[in-house]
Amino acid sequence: MKRAQGSTLIKNGSLFDGTGKGPVPHAAVVIRDGSIAYAGPAAQAPAVPPDAAVLDARRGTILPGLVEAHFHATYFNVAELADLDIKYPVEYVTLLAAANAKLALECGYTSARSCGSLHNVDVWLKKAIENGLHPGPRLAAAGREICGSGGLMDWNPDYLKLGMEGLILLVNGPVESRAAVRKLAKDGVEWVKTYPSGDAASPHADHHSTCMTREELDAAVAEAHNFKLKVTGHCRSTAGIKNALLAGFDAIEHATFIDDETLGLLLERDVPVVPALYFEKASVERGKDFGMPQRVIDGHKETLEGGAESARRILKAGGRLGMGGDYGFAWTPHGDYAKELTFFVREVGFSAADTLRCATKTGAEILGRGNELGTLEAGKLADVLVVDGDPLQDISILEDRRRFIAVMQGGIVKAGQLG
Ligand SMILES: [Zn+2]
Repeated sequence: MKRAQGSTLIKNGSLFDGTGKGPVPHAAVVIRDGSIAYAGPAAQAPAVPPDAAVLDARRGTILPGLVEAHFHATYFNVAELADLDIKYPVEYVTLLAAANAKLALECGYTSARSCGSLHNVDVWLKKAIENGLHPGPRLAAAGREICGSGGLMDWNPDYLKLGMEGLILLVNGPVESRAAVRKLAKDGVEWVKTYPSGDAASPHADHHSTCMTREELDAAVAEAHNFKLKVTGHCRSTAGIKNALLAGFDAIEHATFIDDETLGLLLERDVPVVPALYFEKASVERGKDFGMPQRVIDGHKETLEGGAESARRILKAGGRLGMGGDYGFAWTPHGDYAKELTFFVREVGFSAADTLRCATKTGAEILGRGNELGTLEAGKLADVLVVDGDPLQDISILEDRRRFIAVMQGGIVKAGQLG
């Protein structure tokens, strides 16, 4: 991705650098050729050349660009399962994905990890973003997801002879699991997304069911690691989380019903988790409006309570959590990403500082780019968010993109009032 040339001084704001240090009042950030040269107290900032651009933070907050750690570019106002795969042709899906990527950047998300996409759209979207053809977050792509036949993602009835081709590679046994990963490696993905467990939303594979065997997961991980790809998966059930960890997963999505033994395994290998909880709350509150059966709503309620408890336990035990939320459903549309952060502060009980660190530093680590992104420190890329206000006092200001003074990638203002 193109970087700014020359110097920029961001002044007149307080700094939240994402490293875990406390906020710095009266701070300055100096950017040189798209990278951070200095972030700290303004009084100690190095002199900038006379032709440096100056950005006034208006006594707001300077923080790292946010990372959406569970992003589906191709989901668009999904109201029922069929909307996930056969609603639109791939041509229109691609345009919708491009619009979603632009919106995510405007919402302050300078990076995102895809957790699955229809066809191979995210791989090509990433290319377009990197080449400056289209605005969007720096992406890590996942392409199509892998699920066992008859599992959560295999919902089209067989008599319709539709298959699940655009969305999911359905596998039976370790040989097919390996073959699916090989296909994805060729497609150019960085993350392999699997389905160790089911979900409350499924008519036949609920949140306590298993959708892939340990052998299938082992084969997927072995083949993915062979190609230097990372593996994650949708893990609700205790058995699903445990199988994924024992197989050597690089991340866990949701980790809803984690028990002591499984938490021990998670911490031992320091595997990050992306809970994605606001979706559950919205499903409980608005499911009725969208014709969700009571059984499914009850399942989401159980998932919400289990997931919130697991997230609290993981944070308390020193584990790593990313903030990402599966946005793109009719009741959690794209653009609402920061509602996840508000939910964690107001209802899960995280501090705003912990939540923001999860949404920046840990998000960048999950992306595999923790050495380049996620904190405001000398040497890192200048992906910076300048906000009118203090999200440590009121996290919900991040939901309102009109309050963004600037959203920067590589030192270039891409969105916000100055964008
Ligand atoms: Zn997802």
